[in-house]
Amino acid sequence: MQKTALVCGAGGFIGGHLVKRLKAEGFWVRGVDLKFNEHAETQADDFVIGDLRDQRLVREVIDRRFDEVYQLAADMGGAGYIFTGENDADIMHNSATINLNVLDACHKRNIKRVFYSSSACMYPEHNQLDPDNPNCAEDSAYPANPDSEYGWEKLFSERLYLAYNRNHGMECRVARYHNIFGPEGTWTGGKEKAPAAMCRKVAEAADGGSIEVWGDGKQTRSFLYIDECLEGTIRLLRSDFEGPVNIGSDEMIAINGLAKMAIDISGKSVAIKNIPGPLGVRGRNSDNRLIRQRLGWAPSETLRDGMEKTYAWIAGEVMRDHNRRAA
Ligand code: NAD
Repeated sequence: MQKTALVCGAGGFIGGHLVKRLKAEGFWVRGVDLKFNEHAETQADDFVIGDLRDQRLVREVIDRRFDEVYQLAADMGGAGYIFTGENDADIMHNSATINLNVLDACHKRNIKRVFYSSSACMYPEHNQLDPDNPNCAEDSAYPANPDSEYGWEKLFSERLYLAYNRNHGMECRVARYHNIFGPEGTWTGGKEKAPAAMCRKVAEAADGGSIEVWGDGKQTRSFLYIDECLEGTIRLLRSDFEGPVNIGSDEMIAINGLAKMAIDISGKSVAIKNIPGPLGVRGRNSDNRLIRQRLGWAPSETLRDGMEKTYAWIAGEVMRDHNRRAA
């Protein structure tokens, strides 16, 4: 019989790509989101526009015993959205309500396998003050001290999924994503993350011009290309390991280094100007020892490869946008 999957947050960046991947594997796929994906037509067999904060809607969407459920819906954004403090109540209320609703509806349908995407933002701030030596080993999560309410909600929801495993015999799987990027992601408007922001700024810059980069440029991060994120997600859901486990790249780079990479890919001569802006922690990198040990797999594609594919897509979007405005 054809396998079935539900993707919550299918109109989003990772969800949109995940639907494509599951379709390529031969699944019947239902997607649900507040909106369609802005960048690509959905390939889902059935796509429900609806609000997962609404318990009745969630019960209607989870109307059968799906073989696999991926819960990716969350109220999120780039550093400009999460770290200002202005959206804290919404972030916590909306995302927690979605997780409570989806997980309970799955339990009531006797669905066993639910994937939940937590985030590296749940790691304690004090372990991420040294940009050259951040600690993001899974067991460093406690005593907890995330730097944002977004991180606290992720921590709560991680525990919620694992509690359903213990108390209700479910087989939920929890991953902590570290900065996922790639084509068909948000690239403008304030919710885009660093790789997309760098590609856009460089694509928009004139040869001989300059771009602005938030902070002193020495804060470090790692970035994982979307295809590898999907590979890790699917491998984890189908494995016998519940997590939480990091899904991220361990190729750490300073933000100015990322900007230089985008400039180099563009072939233009562009200067970097560091300006004050919202930052987040000083350093973050994925620790891949646990995923390697438990799944026998870890991401391996270089950042440069992923940035080249992403730059090409964003440069095309910038060009289309420019032509639309000129017309
Ligand atoms: P995204 O914002 O593109 O996708 C999330 C989707 O959830 C959006 O399409 C949004 O419309 C939908 N959504 C929000 N509230 C909803 C509601 N009430 N009802 C229905 N749909 C709703 O984000 P993404 O980058 O695809 O991330 C997917 C998941 O992975 C999120 O849970 C996010 O926290 C987690 N994550 C992502 C990253 C990353 O780097 N992209 C890093 C860590 C964790």
